[in-house]
Amino acid sequence: MDHQPATLPPHILLFPFPIQGHVKPTLNLAELLCLHGLHVTILISEYCRTRLLRLGNVQSGTLLHPALCFKTISDGLPEDHPRVGMRVMEVTPPNIVGPLFRELMTSTNCLGSETRKPLTCIIADAILSFLGDFAIEKGIPFIYFPSISACSYWTSFCIPQVIEADEIPLKGNDMDLLVKSVPGMEGFLRRRDLPIFRADDINDPKLQFLKTECRKNLVAHALIMNTFDDLEESILSQMHTHFPNIYTIGPLHVHLRIRLAVAEMISSSTSTTSVSFWEEDRKCLTWLDSQPSKSVIYVSFGSITVMTREQHMDFWYGLVNSGQRFLWVIRPDFFASGEDVESQILTELEEGTRKRGFMVGWAPQEEVLAHPATGGFLTHSGWNSSMESITAGVPMICWSYFADQMVNSRLVSEVWKLGLDMKDTCDRVVVEKMVRDLMEVRKDEFQQRADQMAKKAKRAVSEGGSSYFNLDRLIQGIKSMIV
Ligand code: UDP
Repeated sequence: MDHQPATLPPHILLFPFPIQGHVKPTLNLAELLCLHGLHVTILISEYCRTRLLRLGNVQSGTLLHPALCFKTISDGLPEDHPRVGMRVMEVTPPNIVGPLFRELMTSTNCLGSETRKPLTCIIADAILSFLGDFAIEKGIPFIYFPSISACSYWTSFCIPQVIEADEIPLKGNDMDLLVKSVPGMEGFLRRRDLPIFRADDINDPKLQFLKTECRKNLVAHALIMNTFDDLEESILSQMHTHFPNIYTIGPLHVHLRIRLAVAEMISSSTSTTSVSFWEEDRKCLTWLDSQPSKSVIYVSFGSITVMTREQHMDFWYGLVNSGQRFLWVIRPDFFASGEDVESQILTELEEGTRKRGFMVGWAPQEEVLAHPATGGFLTHSGWNSSMESITAGVPMICWSYFADQMVNSRLVSEVWKLGLDMKDTCDRVVVEKMVRDLMEVRKDEFQQRADQMAKKAKRAVSEGGSSYFNLDRLIQGIKSMIV
């Protein structure tokens, strides 16, 4: 360490929650930091690294940038754990990963070396609050990065007062009652939109986790949010009363593309490095090429949603009966375990799919959404998918599965009015009607709003925009951190 050149740049540790939807925006952020001359170490699970390496996304430990390096840590689970559906909550148990993290940091002298400074700052997923204790103990500034919408984050943050107001546990009360104890959302947030895993017992561990976790974020130096001011301004101002320092720098995937273009590393229309845990089937792009403009509804439920056979059949019937063209992602691990799907496929569905549909195991989603043939997105309302749809100007039907997705889908339908919310139903008749409404009946209305919002998103990450400005502010903030 004595041999370090005095000019070594600040060194940031990024620690995402180790699932696709959190790793992807973190890698975007990492590249943005590297582009601005910072050293970045990303801590990912062995499980994530294996998946990324297998697909060539991460070559010999670096992505696009040599200033970026990877370290691995266990996610605390055996290799054969499914890591999907509700069981994703079991990933990274603090009692196992916390001590492993501490050991790694201590044994590497907090990652200092001849070529890297010891950590200047830690940026961690907001649900890894155990890192805060370590950072405080070592005097390392730390920032939380909740890779969800500001509105979802704020709702989770307010859970203690929602409990106090007796609005949860739900106790079978009317799910359409408005929740009055989340400031700024009194007019539209219903009980069914709460990100609480439908707990009806105050002692439910997931509810207790949510109740305490966000509050622990209060001790952080700042928050980084993958959103933009025009999208969530009123809730961001509520958050400012608790978090004076919030950097809204999204949509990150577009922001990265624009900054790479400014640095003349790519053209602004080029996609950035793919970060996928599954192999992308690019044949769907060729299929899209042969479809009419805005005629296809893209159907994808993200990287962890699982479905029962019954739900799957309802979606399938609904899509086929809507008469619309559809491109559907069905991951290899998409079905709840033990479900037998292959044997029951009916001829009428196969026929309808052959005529108007295309199915893949994993799609290059950003490219699909940007394709001129894509006119709608049936989504589970994961935050990355929502942001990718918003920036591509694609209206949505939302079938949220759990957690923050419950809030996002309400925003899409009631606040931004960019589509329809199908949560808690997946009856084939409802699916058919909603797909028709989105793709035909109310198409122009939704498209017009989606186009306007896409422009605002692009403006936010362009020079002079709020997210562009905030990223510069974040970089300056990190550069001025003295450890
Ligand atoms: N995704 C993809 N191809 C697919 C399905 C999903 O590349 O076929 C990507 C998508 O672009 C998004 C991420 O997977 O960036 C899913 O993240 P999201 O936050 O939407 O949902 P999660 O998977 O965390 O539930």
